[in-house]
This record gives sequence, C-alpha cells and structure tokens, in this order.
Amino acid sequence: MITKKGISASPGVAIGPALVLDTEEYRIPRRTIHPSQVAKELRTLDAALEASRQEVSELRTALSRKMGQQTSAIFEFHEKFIADSKLRNTVAAKIENDLCTAAYAFSHELNRQQKAFRAVPDPYIKERVTDLFDIEKRVLRHILGRTREDIARLSEPVVIVAHDITPSQAVQLDRQHILGFVLNVGGQTSHMAIISRALRVPTVVGLTDATAEISGGEMVIVDGTHGIVIAEPDLATLERYQALQQEYERFETRLRGLRHEPAITRDGQPISLLANIELPQEVEAALEAGAEGIGLYRTEFLFLGSDRMPTEEQQYEAFSSAVRAARGKPVTLRTLDLGADKLATSMGVQHDHNPVLGLRSLRYCLLNLDLFKTHLRAMLRATVEGDVRIMFPMIATLMELRQAKATLADVMEDLEEESIPFRRNVPIGIMIETPAAALVADALAQEVSFLSIGTNDLTQYTLAVDRGNERVAHLYSPHNPAMLKLLRMIMRAGHRAGVEVSLCGEMAGSPIYTQLLLGLGLRKLSMAPKDVPEVKQLIRSTTLADCQRIARKVLQFDADRQVLNFLRDEARKVLPPEAF
Ligand code: PEP
Ligand code: MG
Repeated sequence: MITKKGISASPGVAIGPALVLDTEEYRIPRRTIHPSQVAKELRTLDAALEASRQEVSELRTALSRKMGQQTSAIFEFHEKFIADSKLRNTVAAKIENDLCTAAYAFSHELNRQQKAFRAVPDPYIKERVTDLFDIEKRVLRHILGRTREDIARLSEPVVIVAHDITPSQAVQLDRQHILGFVLNVGGQTSHMAIISRALRVPTVVGLTDATAEISGGEMVIVDGTHGIVIAEPDLATLERYQALQQEYERFETRLRGLRHEPAITRDGQPISLLANIELPQEVEAALEAGAEGIGLYRTEFLFLGSDRMPTEEQQYEAFSSAVRAARGKPVTLRTLDLGADKLATSMGVQHDHNPVLGLRSLRYCLLNLDLFKTHLRAMLRATVEGDVRIMFPMIATLMELRQAKATLADVMEDLEEESIPFRRNVPIGIMIETPAAALVADALAQEVSFLSIGTNDLTQYTLAVDRGNERVAHLYSPHNPAMLKLLRMIMRAGHRAGVEVSLCGEMAGSPIYTQLLLGLGLRKLSMAPKDVPEVKQLIRSTTLADCQRIARKVLQFDADRQVLNFLRDEARKVLPPEAF
C-alpha cells in the first residue's frame, strides 16, 4: 500500500483501477490474456527487445562518431540493460505467470526497477532512473507499434494517473469512464483542477511522481477532498474509503435538495449565485444546480479542442446555444482568454519565454484583430437571443480597455451596415485579475457596466506564484492579507462608481470563503456549477452581520495561515463536518 499526499483539486472519493498515461500518452492497462496468447506476447517482447537493442547500438555508433566515446558511453548502459537475459526472463515469467500483456509486464518491471534505483543513496545510481525511463519508452514504442491509444475512447471506468492533462486533452475526454484524476503537476486553480471540478471528478494534483509510483491496473483510492491518493490499499483502508464515498454521496444528495431554495442569509440578504462554464452544453447542468445564470463562460474552450480557429458561424452557434439554453437568464460571455496554459493548436507555436506574462488573452486578441473581430461579431449576434453581457479578461491598463471597446464599436458599425441585428446596449464589463487593474479600478469602473474579480489570476500575479506549479502551491493563497486589501479596494472602487462588482475566481465556490466575501460587500458570486448548492447552504446558515464581523476581523490579520484558520473555524460553526 502506497499513500501519497498531494493538493486537493476536486472533492469526493473515487476508487478504481489506475490507467497510467506516461508522458508519451501510452496507455498500459492491465489486461488479462488467454493462456493461448502467451506465446504471441513472448514473441512481441523478444522482437521489441531486439529492435530496441539494435536502435541503441546504431545510435551509439553514430554518436561516438559525432561526439566522441564519452557521450556514446551513456548508450552502452542502455544497450547492456536491454540485452540482459535476466531482464528478458523476469518479464517473460510475469507474462506466463500473471497472464498479462508484454507491454504491461515490461512497464511493471521497469517501474519496479526505477523505484529500487531511486531508493539507493548513491547519486550515480539515482541518475540511472532517467535512463530506465528512457529505455522503458523505447521498448514500449516497439511493443505497442507506436500507436497511442485514445483517452477519448475508454472501455471501462478508470482512475487516470498522468503527469499532466492539458486543457485541450481535457475537453476531449471520455467523461463517462473517468472515475478520478491523479496528476504529478498542478495547483488548486490550475485549469485542469477547474475542469475536474466542473466534471465533478475527484482529483488530486501536485503529486510529483505519481506516474512512477503507480502502475497501470493497480487499485487506487483518490480522496479528492483531502488531497490523498492510496495505491493498492489494504482491506481495512478500502472499506473505510468505501464508507466515506457513500457518506460524501449522501451529502451531495442532501445539497441537491437545496436547488430551488433561495440563496438568502438568515437576516434577509439575498445573494446572486451564478455559474462558470467552459462549454455551452453545461448551461443546463448549471441551472439544474440552482445557478441564476452564467457569470463566466470561458469561450476559449471552443478553440482548444480543434486544430483550426472556429469560424464565425461555429462560434455564433456555440454562444447562441448557450444563451438559448439559459432561457432568459443572464449569460456573461468572456472574450478569448487563450495563452499561458490554454494554448490552442491554431495559435501556432508560441515562443514566449514566460507565457503567463506573455502574449496571452486580450493582448493576443488586440494583436490579431481579424480573429478578435470575428469573435466579437459572433458574440454580438448572440445578444438578440437573450440576456447577454460581454466581458474582457486580463485588463492591465485603461488603454487596453479603450482599445477593446473601440474594436467592439467597429464591429457594431460593421453589423449595422450589414443590417445584422444585435443589442447595441449590451452591458460591457471587465475582469479584474491583474494587480494593475485592481489599483486603477476606480478609473476602469468609470468606463464599464460591471467588474468581475478573477482571483485565480489576481492571486498568481499579486503573490508572484504560478497558479499551476505544484512546487509553489503552498504559497498560493487567495486569502493572503495582500489579496484581501486588493479585494477591499476593488469593492470600494465599484461602490464609488455605482458599478456592480462580482467575483468569479475559484474562491467564489469554496464555502470557507463565503462569509468573508459577503462581509467584504460581494452580493454576486460565480462558481463551478457543482459548488452552487454548498455555497448556498452556507449563505442560508449565516447572517450578513456575522459576515461583516468576520471580514473586519480577518482584515486585521497579517499571516494567511491565521486568516484561513479563522475562516475555517467560522465556517465549521455553521456547516456540517462532511463539507471539509
Ligand atoms: C480567474 O483568473 O480568476 C478567472 C476566473 O479566469 P481563469 O480561471 O479562466 O483564468
Ligand atoms: Mg483568469
């Protein structure tokens, strides 16, 4: 039994067999074979070992000519290792005894050796782990004939164990068969974490080396609520988690019962709860969960799944179908937020050394005006279908906002000339997700109808902590005193300008923060659909007076730990223990 602690990304408990995707996306599921297939698997193994050995030998000769004996010696180790009859016999015995495939048996044996090498204190031996990894990939490529199996078509329920899943892979996932995610990298607000919450799939991220320690087919428990992953659990542990899983499901069912109850504090303050979505098909589920509309539609997800930029018609189709599905409820269309970890193939190769600070989001749109105008045309055309708002992301300066608005005005003129209907008075808002925007929120608020605080990026930029990097995840806290000061500042700016302020970062969906946010003056929160019932439950259990007291108190703290402990204690006073 191996227990690993990572970062909780999506709550709930999942139990099932692991499907390990290595960095080259090979699926090595544990498949039982019929005894009559053993001979064929042994032939596959031998052929793959021989082909790999030859490949390495040729590589060594070529390298020694080009770079000298010393460099080519690296491959001497590879060649000897692959040619070792002990390795071949161990793998062959596993195929025969366990009736498994050559790919599985080989990958299992190499994983075992990697673990053993890693445990040796000698740094020379430790370094050989990378070589073993390299060898494993080479031989697997031959065994599997270079075919990369497709995670979009799974045949059985599995827990996906991977180094990382990109947002573009994530949107193509076969949702039906995925029980949970276990990822080496990522933090609480990395896009993969957001997606897994939207999919309601228990997920633990930031585990560093889960792909090396868990083998395909092993039974895995994913405790997404506490950020724990257990491979090959003993019976007592398994039973304990099965009970927890049932308890969590009962809790979720109870929450679903709150769907049609109003989000109103005990002392009568109504709060607007909206949903964040990535795809138009999610609108239905968002309303089902009790959301009063869509506070953030991340339209870039339409661009992530395909190799080409979607046409105006395709975009219009997606936006208008979301608006129609909302049946008159508000839908906030955010303009393209591509870049950083949300790279579309159609954007071409990016050379930004530091993509989070690079040519992303609105900056990218303002430099690719044709693409931006097509995008805005599709949005404007959808405004006649219901209550649409348009929101610009990643604003850092007043000039950017003015440029974006001028482009929108140009597109409006074009549509008018072509007699294409749209709503001229569509409300225009911006996201406040850079410290620069927070600091000039007063001026920005003069030129828009609403502000929406994006705490995911605002935290990353304020604290200079990459939101997707597990190595600094412990420093990523939206409740940091610096953040709280910025939040208060934005709220005041909105209030002075008479402009509505909402919050659509992940913070909005975590009940630990609800009292603080209400206390700071927020009356509108947008979150993953699945978070709506839990946040509503908290709102219905507290009073605005209490929230204001809590906000006043935490604004005096100077350490984020202090803030979090206090907020947790306050939330625990009103919510049942299963919520944490
Ligand atoms: C944010 O940054 O808080 C936000 C909501 O946008 P995204 O998570 O899509 O960057
Ligand atoms: Mg953002």
